[in-house]
Amino acid sequence: MPELPEVEVTRLSFAQRIAGARIDGVRMGKPLRWPLGCEPEQLVGQRVLAVRRRGKYLLLDLSEGLLMLHLGMSGSVSFGSPLAEPGKHDHFDLVTSLGTLRLHDPRRFGAVVFASDEADAAAQKLLGRLGVEPLGDAFDVATFQQALKSRNMAIKQVLLGGQAVVGVGNIYASEVLFLAGIRPTTKALRISKARAALLHGAIRQVLAQAVAKGGSTLRDFSNAQGEAGHFQLEAMVYDRAGLPCRVCAAPIKSMRQGQRSTFYCATCQKP
Ligand code: ZN
Repeated sequence: MPELPEVEVTRLSFAQRIAGARIDGVRMGKPLRWPLGCEPEQLVGQRVLAVRRRGKYLLLDLSEGLLMLHLGMSGSVSFGSPLAEPGKHDHFDLVTSLGTLRLHDPRRFGAVVFASDEADAAAQKLLGRLGVEPLGDAFDVATFQQALKSRNMAIKQVLLGGQAVVGVGNIYASEVLFLAGIRPTTKALRISKARAALLHGAIRQVLAQAVAKGGSTLRDFSNAQGEAGHFQLEAMVYDRAGLPCRVCAAPIKSMRQGQRSTFYCATCQKP
């Protein structure tokens, strides 16, 4: 599943190239997770002013509205001119004067949703409950410590929940907990201030590094120019069950938490 770094890498790979483009047409494939929320014709003639990101949503600021794009479980975006004829898993094309933005999504858990602006109910429904951005200034140690203190749940589940901080998905949750030396099953409210500060730093470091390296290659991720990421090659624990820990050489363990796989080192990560 594309996580925040992959979405950010996707954004960086086409944001500047599409800025200023005029929308000339919209092609819809099979239904996605949610309906578009407007007539496709309403988009034609509008300009794409900028591309932002909030959590795992790509936000296309239009001259009259906002287009929110989510990659779901298996989505990827390409942007170019000309693109090949749409294939059976290409379910949305935004044809613009500077190229076509295409959502390729075999499992169709992704979506493209229009809202008149960010305060609109359609936008608030998707964006309104998202936690603070991990790479932004609003994500500070004190607020994060406070958020952990109020949660009587395993820290891994709190991270995945997205309300203490948004965008730490399954791969990166295992990685940041390893870096902070915290066992994934530790209750959030039992984590000391000092360890919460370590975790805060680890979240920033791992996500920023993943963006810098082009996102994860897991599940065939590639950016809008078709380039694969390299993060998986350097994962410390994720998907390494039974392999020696890169720090202490003890075998990496795996377990299920909330139906998701978790990887950790029982020596390096303390309860
Ligand atoms: Zn270890």
